[in-house]
Amino acid sequence: MTAGSDSPAVRIDRYVGQYAERAKGMVASEIRALFAVAARPEIVSLAGGTPYVAALPLDAVGSMVGELVAGQGTQALQYCTAQGDAGLRERICEVMSLEGVQDHPDDVVVTVGSQQALDLLARIFVDPGDVVLAEAPSYVGALGAFSAYQADVVHVPMDDEGLIPEALEQAIAAVAASGRRAKFLYTVPNFHNPAGVTLALSRRHRILDICQRAELLVVEDNPYGLLGFDGDPMRALRADDPEGVVYLGTFSKTFAAGVRVGWAVAPPAIRDKLILAAESAVLCHSSFAQLTVREYLSTQPWREQIKDFRELYRARRDATLDALARLMPPGCGWTEPAGGFYVWLRLPDGVDAKAMLPRAISARVAYVPGTGFYADGSGGQFARLCYAFPDPERIREGIRRLAAVVEGEIELRHDFASGVPSV
Ligand code: PMP
Repeated sequence: MTAGSDSPAVRIDRYVGQYAERAKGMVASEIRALFAVAARPEIVSLAGGTPYVAALPLDAVGSMVGELVAGQGTQALQYCTAQGDAGLRERICEVMSLEGVQDHPDDVVVTVGSQQALDLLARIFVDPGDVVLAEAPSYVGALGAFSAYQADVVHVPMDDEGLIPEALEQAIAAVAASGRRAKFLYTVPNFHNPAGVTLALSRRHRILDICQRAELLVVEDNPYGLLGFDGDPMRALRADDPEGVVYLGTFSKTFAAGVRVGWAVAPPAIRDKLILAAESAVLCHSSFAQLTVREYLSTQPWREQIKDFRELYRARRDATLDALARLMPPGCGWTEPAGGFYVWLRLPDGVDAKAMLPRAISARVAYVPGTGFYADGSGGQFARLCYAFPDPERIREGIRRLAAVVEGEIELRHDFASGVPSV
């Protein structure tokens, strides 16, 4: 056996007794485990939340990057400050102004995608056992970041209009009754990952009021806010309460996920902690990536590009909803996203998305079982479908395959219930 052997049969972890307690919370997400399988070309993957970067003008971006290095290479290839490039932070404020956020570039901290902001926030706020409130379901990457710091995630129910204010009040009261206080509320108000719903305008002030009264910090994670299919972008929560809300943004969905540039905007004291935490994690972020985004926002028609993305994703959303309505057997239900990447599919009673997954893979279609989006492992009756990457025809084919698999599960259950042995 060679030292680098990676076969599961021989990969015994000899350091298992030496890890810090918090490493126990670091386990592979449902999505990561799926990626290798879902990437096979014969499989229609509705699994990973993969943006369609092929829609970018790659030649123009390539020339821009070449010019960046030739003209500003000594800055692009050098260290910078942990807070991030000042010019980029100015551009970020312009982007956020589309959602009513009126912050100064000094309030912005650049991060490695918004994922790093989630990690830094958890590092700053969460001691083992601390409560974090989060929607039910919640973005799997946020749950991963919180569990890495041993947070106790308490889920708050949503409906078709997003987080339910009364349920939030009850959750805050229940946590208080247990002698604890939540460190923050984590929410994705727009085109939710994975639920596909958007927090109704009429609920936004209510949620902010409740949090203000409870002195509960809000972490507003908003990767999809500019990818709405109808009308103007929704007003950000931070626009109405800059002291009570940390806003997280990213260029992963509006430009390129591979540049790994996101940001956090926070009240000054939290901003300072974020900068210190970022410094100890990475010294500073990639100057090259930051200046690439800065140049993109300064020299390329980024607003038009976002419109193009919106139209592309709208067509894929339409194909998804149309195919679901035509093909899914009775007993299924799904959300109808007004933007973003995701539909949340409810399977008929008794059908378990995780148990069904191997049969779906055999039928050459992949999705993410709902259990990945709940800290307590519930959500087995749900599946997340991401329509961002496959073209409409592939989406229709994928849903045709999925519908057949769900029908097979229903028949299996029926045979089981009526005592007919099934093979
Ligand atoms: N938050 C949410 C809700 C997301 O869907 C994602 C990406 N799937 C992220 C954060 C992290 O994205 P990134 O690190 O690429 O900015």
